[in-house]
Amino acid sequence: MTLRCTRCGSTFPLYPPRDKCQKCGGALEYKINLSRSRKIKFSGEMRFWRYKTLLPPVQNAISLREGGTLLHKAERLAESIGLKELYLKDETRNPTNSFRDRAAALLTSNAVDLECDTLICATNGNLGASLAAYSAKAGLICHVIVPKLVDVGKLAQMLIYDAVIEEFGEIVDESIHRAEALEKETGWYQATAELNPLVIEAQKTIAYEVYEQFGVPNWFITSMGSGGTIHSVWKGFKELKQLGMTESLPKMIGVQLEGCAPIVKTFSEKRSKQAKISKPSTHALAVLVANPLQGEFAIKAIKESKGLALTVSDSESFNAELQIAKLEGMFAEPASSATIAALKKLVDEEIGKNESVVCLITGSGLKATDVLQALTKKHKTAGLGLELSTKEKMLRILSRKDTYGYDLWKKLGKTMTRAAIYQHLNELLERGLIVAYEKEGRKYLKITKRGQRALLAIQELKVLL
Ligand SMILES: [Zn+2]
Repeated sequence: MTLRCTRCGSTFPLYPPRDKCQKCGGALEYKINLSRSRKIKFSGEMRFWRYKTLLPPVQNAISLREGGTLLHKAERLAESIGLKELYLKDETRNPTNSFRDRAAALLTSNAVDLECDTLICATNGNLGASLAAYSAKAGLICHVIVPKLVDVGKLAQMLIYDAVIEEFGEIVDESIHRAEALEKETGWYQATAELNPLVIEAQKTIAYEVYEQFGVPNWFITSMGSGGTIHSVWKGFKELKQLGMTESLPKMIGVQLEGCAPIVKTFSEKRSKQAKISKPSTHALAVLVANPLQGEFAIKAIKESKGLALTVSDSESFNAELQIAKLEGMFAEPASSATIAALKKLVDEEIGKNESVVCLITGSGLKATDVLQALTKKHKTAGLGLELSTKEKMLRILSRKDTYGYDLWKKLGKTMTRAAIYQHLNELLERGLIVAYEKEGRKYLKITKRGQRALLAIQELKVLL
């Protein structure tokens, strides 16, 4: 294992981990000696440390039982999108409910090995929450720098795990500069994702797990903030190939939100230099990064894998979030829901119906501020008038299963006269939102495509109100 410059090839001591080459300023990366002759056998429990033979060496392995997360077969979601095989890598199941627990396990272990007592980390949220928990476990002090815009749930986690929290800058780019300066001043352990190449090593284990749980999918979709995650997963799959464990590799798809898409812009405009975003904005705070420090890595992963980069809007991602929750029972954060929003745009065009797809669900929606706000608002404004809400309830019932008038009346709690029920049904029939057919001597009702669209529109409206 070496720590090597990706530009000039110079090598450096493995630790302390540093991000830049002292000779040319290029990015540093850990490289393991991989060859087909090296027989690797993963052993132990299906958790993060199962892969320690392919990670930079550690003496004191800190763990809260991270990794080994479920690869969720999303059958209902797949059907609604028109795809045969869709899996969600459910990283919300980690100890602090995000994929960053993998990185926190490796970083705190390394800090303990190096006898550092304080970690510093600039973060959009998830890594801060993870590091705060793991630092608590390891008895370290965790100094977190967060921008003004940060998800409240993540902030609550940092607080409860007793991190020292400093607010600096509007968005995370500014917090990162502060973390760099503070490291120089104090000599604290640098645990910011963009400044510590161990993070890439930790996150690549997601690829190993997917490989063990399913194999290599045709496509792997992830959202992009700094660009480090897509690069990590791609590195993981490539290493498996170098070891001769697989012949195939996935095509990598990187997704960003329209209001903050510097990597997609750089990629699609074939720029040689990173595009700058002057006024970035998205509700997916986890990927609100104006100047992605690992954008080059991300673009390399997409190009090498013959993958794609695309944007989705905030509302497309929010709708996807509702869909993931309703069809699969999973509460994903906005940044990860963007992967499903992107997938919907690509099925039939770029992605074939019979191809396998894995989407990375990086963290839990419970942590995100605006999701919580939207849902409480939704609760408050649930009555868009009684008329609409009865019809909406009927459409909802019919969207699950065809049924007949009397059954609908029962399912609505028998609160209305049956005449009123039939009045509503007639109006829905007239508008083409439902159709009727005969079965077993009964008049059954069925929601139409138009009806399904109307139902989605109603739900979206409520969120916006
Ligand atoms: Zn160099």
